[in-house]
Amino acid sequence: MLRALFLALTLLWIATDVSASVSTGKEAVAEVRSGYNDLEKAVLDEMSARADLIYARLAAFFGRDLPTPIIIHFDDRYEVSTSYPHINTIGFPRYAAERNIAVLAHEMTHLFMPERRSVLLSEGIAIYAQDRFGVVIGFPNYGTDVDKLLMRRLGGIDGLRRYRLEAVPHAIFGRAGNRNRQTAYIAAGSFTRFLFEQVLKQDMAAFRRIYTTGDYRRETGKTLADLQADWWRHLGLETEPPPL
Ligand SMILES: [Zn+2]
Repeated sequence: MLRALFLALTLLWIATDVSASVSTGKEAVAEVRSGYNDLEKAVLDEMSARADLIYARLAAFFGRDLPTPIIIHFDDRYEVSTSYPHINTIGFPRYAAERNIAVLAHEMTHLFMPERRSVLLSEGIAIYAQDRFGVVIGFPNYGTDVDKLLMRRLGGIDGLRRYRLEAVPHAIFGRAGNRNRQTAYIAAGSFTRFLFEQVLKQDMAAFRRIYTTGDYRRETGKTLADLQADWWRHLGLETEPPPL
């Protein structure tokens, strides 16, 4: 009930927006709106051209289309980059434009893959898409390889051995500014890349089935715990992992 109320208020809040300026690229994939009078029009134009490019890349990668235009909104109301698949909208705080770290491919991936059964895979595939198709670098890895960055964050192999994906609370993904949150994102990016590239050999249909059903075993013959152990080995853990 509270959740429904919150959603309704969010929708109302976005619907009542009176933007200072709007920009649309050649392909009219996105409508870029700004709540700031002083955010240069050139920045918004560049963002709408970038949206055209990234949309084409993601539509090919995911093998589906979205209703357009997608609303891309720069405004103070967003503390961090946020997506609202049910209303085809992405929100960025001002600093994302100013520092050129608006992770458009990441947030647009949430629109292409709204069936969010697992936050691990949902954030993981968004980070993967940003690394592979994004034009700029940004949260959580800022262009650094997710495997290397995770190992650095965890303090090497011993830290990795103790890092259990299933033990990371989902709530941590929502706590802006928290260092453990950023580590959780980096781990999600690393695990999802391993799953998609190494285990599934980039079979998007198979990935989507796991993504929507949560059934790892049917697609890979392994449980999440087995796959985690394979991922640890992939990252350099040579000894057998402890029993789960
Ligand atoms: Zn995300």
